[in-house]
Amino acid sequence: MLTLTSYDPAKNFLPIGDVAVSTDEEIIEKVVLARNAQKEWRNIGIERRIELLREVYNALFERKEEIGTIATREMGFPKKQQSDFDLGDGFNYFNWYLDNAKKILTPEVTFESEVELHTVFYEPIGVAAIIQPWNFPFCQWSWSVVPNLVVGNTVVFKHSEECPLTGKLIEEIIQSTNLPKGVFNEVYGGAEVGQSLVEQDINLVCFTGSVKSGQKVYEAASRKFVKAILELGGSAPCIVCEDVDMDEIAPIIYVQRFTNNGQICDGLKRLIVHESRFDELVRAIKDIIEEKKVGDPLLEETEFGPLSAKRQLDLLNEQVEDAVMKGATVITGGKRVENLDGAYYYPTLLTNVTPNMRVWNEEVFGPVLPVMSYKTEEEALSNANDTSFGLGGYIYSRDIERAERIASKLETGMVSINGINYVCPFNPFGGVKSSGFGREHGKFGLHDLTQLKLVVRNK
Ligand code: NAD
Repeated sequence: MLTLTSYDPAKNFLPIGDVAVSTDEEIIEKVVLARNAQKEWRNIGIERRIELLREVYNALFERKEEIGTIATREMGFPKKQQSDFDLGDGFNYFNWYLDNAKKILTPEVTFESEVELHTVFYEPIGVAAIIQPWNFPFCQWSWSVVPNLVVGNTVVFKHSEECPLTGKLIEEIIQSTNLPKGVFNEVYGGAEVGQSLVEQDINLVCFTGSVKSGQKVYEAASRKFVKAILELGGSAPCIVCEDVDMDEIAPIIYVQRFTNNGQICDGLKRLIVHESRFDELVRAIKDIIEEKKVGDPLLEETEFGPLSAKRQLDLLNEQVEDAVMKGATVITGGKRVENLDGAYYYPTLLTNVTPNMRVWNEEVFGPVLPVMSYKTEEEALSNANDTSFGLGGYIYSRDIERAERIASKLETGMVSINGINYVCPFNPFGGVKSSGFGREHGKFGLHDLTQLKLVVRNK
């Protein structure tokens, strides 16, 4: 039997536990279970589905401390942040779906006359293969699985190889509820298990992860001629205009870049500041960073834990070394934390950054912020859009008209002006360009998980 071991990135990669890797036979078996359960799950109707999912919500909520602790141990998310942003948001979205799905999925009348009625129905697509990354271990489950189950799809889910124990605990908790057998199924393993899952008898793929893996998944989905919703990487630009209040915006920019150790898909990853305010903003962010505590993620006071894995640490190190070799200046950080064993890296601020540096033209999944200056709005936009990614975008200006003009020219799926949070259950989440397609959340995301059926009839 092949096993997958989970390692603690905060404790010198000590093994925490392991799970059995799913074999091809087991993957097929889970897909068959999901297929067999699908008709009944669809036919019991949305009200009963919501009732059963409320029970799942309660069972998970009761054991949220356990889920939080294992998630933090597996991928180093500082406990306090994990509790607010992973568990907090995961349960918040879960609730929102249960409260709003019925209304959103109500059939829509597109035309009515004295003699005719035209109606669009939102029907489930069938069996969804869901493959997720590790950076929000609970949200990643909740955001992808709950909406699929609500609309009437059944699911075969694979969590990341970096957090299999979180996945296992969630599966065990769900098995203790009355959710009918086969509605939710889980498989375990890395890329090869994900690949095998997509090859099976499924009707929909919901994939979140890197662009490279997403492209492979899309190829496999296209061969099978099934729909794929792809939520991929990002390198969000942030344009700061000259008219801002630095004391107000510096702490928000810090949060947008450095929460979860900078491991957020749509997190602010490239800062583009008007030349007249450049030094001031760099100093303000440096001061904030240097006050923060790096250490054991299980401690309440820790703001920076380790990165999720050794491979992430090595990649980040290479990206920063490349920048320094090409002339970047390290304002703070720029190295591993010497006295801590694990995937620890100091939060880092880089200036004298040029577009040929990897920290600018690749996704940086760690606590590193490259900063560039600009003279004109055109130059700021050109640098912001000079990327293959198009997930999030951020703008700071007191002049709302100007901020909206810049927003209209940013090539991204989402834009936040002056720090307003767009990650809310009622909003669509997703990207353009190589950041993927399809949307999660809100009525947009729920509709994406259904197929439309138009029925026209006489009265
Ligand atoms: P990854 O692509 O390495 O892995 C993601 C998942 O895909 C894992 O479960 C992995 O086992 C699986 N996988 C890998 N190759 C596969 C293949 N060929 N076929 C099927 N499955 C495969 O990504 P990661 O390092 O785990 O996660 C970080 C990436 O995820 C970053 O790029 C980040 O921006 C992105 N992300 C995007 C969003 C979003 O909503 N857009 C959200 C979170 C993370």
